[in-house]
Amino acid sequence: MHKQNFKIILSFLLILTSNFIFSQKKFTIVLDAGHGGSDHGANRTYSDIGRVAEKDITLAITLKVGAMLEKNRDFKVIYTRKIDEYPSLSDRTNLANRSKADLFVSIHCNSSQRPTAYGTETYVQGPNQNNENLEVAKRENDVIFLDEKDKQIFGSYNPDSPESLIALKLQQSKYLESSLLLGGLVEDNFVNKDKRSSRGVFQKNLHVLRMNAMPSVLIETGFINHPEESHYIASDKGQTEIAESIYNAIIDYKKAIDRKSGGSIATRKPEPEKPAEVPLKNDFRILLMSSPTKYNENDPALKGLNYILTLKENGQYKYYYAVTNMASVKDINLKTAKDAGFRNAFAVGFMPNQRISMGYYTIEVYAGDKLNGNSYILQNLKDVERNKDNGVFYYTYGKVYTLEDAVKLQKELEAKGIKNTVIQKVYK
Ligand SMILES: [Zn+2]
Repeated sequence: MHKQNFKIILSFLLILTSNFIFSQKKFTIVLDAGHGGSDHGANRTYSDIGRVAEKDITLAITLKVGAMLEKNRDFKVIYTRKIDEYPSLSDRTNLANRSKADLFVSIHCNSSQRPTAYGTETYVQGPNQNNENLEVAKRENDVIFLDEKDKQIFGSYNPDSPESLIALKLQQSKYLESSLLLGGLVEDNFVNKDKRSSRGVFQKNLHVLRMNAMPSVLIETGFINHPEESHYIASDKGQTEIAESIYNAIIDYKKAIDRKSGGSIATRKPEPEKPAEVPLKNDFRILLMSSPTKYNENDPALKGLNYILTLKENGQYKYYYAVTNMASVKDINLKTAKDAGFRNAFAVGFMPNQRISMGYYTIEVYAGDKLNGNSYILQNLKDVERNKDNGVFYYTYGKVYTLEDAVKLQKELEAKGIKNTVIQKVYK
């Protein structure tokens, strides 16, 4: 078909469908079948089933996932390829960014030097650029040099330059949590539904994910060079199971995102068969870790997680992630924290607006060397208290009696330009 004709038909269809659904925003998902055309990806020849090429398997699975999603009116599916061709990596990410997609799912197959390696893995774009294990990054990024345009776009990116790193980290932390959530759901489905072996969800620096302005995952659906697993991923049964697992994960992911955003991302249909979830009495936060060290937001120690509440108690900084009074969201938050690498994280209940029984809350506005009288903090805040402990000067401000009031006070300070403060519980 001529491109022009195709465009006319496409826009006609778009007008039709958008009128039909009363211009409700659909959840746009880009499905990316890895490799294609001259780029075969991983491949191996077996005596019984012949040559197994990654590019064919990724396309077959992608088309199956797409067909399942297209049956659901809430989704708009965009494919980076539907045939055996090679869109450059920048074509793939540009398409996703231009279509303002809500989600990007890249489907791949794995290979290893070790013939015994098997199982599934999901990758998200992580904030940690200093990975000792760059095997996957290298393998998936190598294809870049097939294409002149890619060289220009990615050539300017220098993983060693601090500017690139800062820009990257900011962008990534925005999408990391959502990407981890989807990655976890994909791997859960592989394990629970398909009885596969999951190697886990990992953070890596992958070109096809890095340029995406949306939550993105890359799924390694199995090993092409593992004799048993390659037969599974090359079979129609295997491909259907894998596609169903990815589809289930996407559906659960959208539900979770809709719940978090109050349904603003996509249309919420009434679900009469399920009674509405009743809020819990307590608020729940996920305790990531306790440490004598203070980490500011965006510190790599926090592994890209946002919405951190730092609470200092008895000289220890406790790092809490997210807050909710819904049991289902609490479970998702805990899972997100564990997938980010906080294996020992657990949920802690906080009674809302509970008045502290002994003592008070204050805000630690600074810890370190003694502050100069004309420092920003001392110039802008009255009645700052100073304490010295083990050679470190601690400056605190305010006295309130509930955690909620402390959070409010902390926000007021932030508005004044005093950031990275910590709420401190003082027992008296
Ligand atoms: Zn691949």
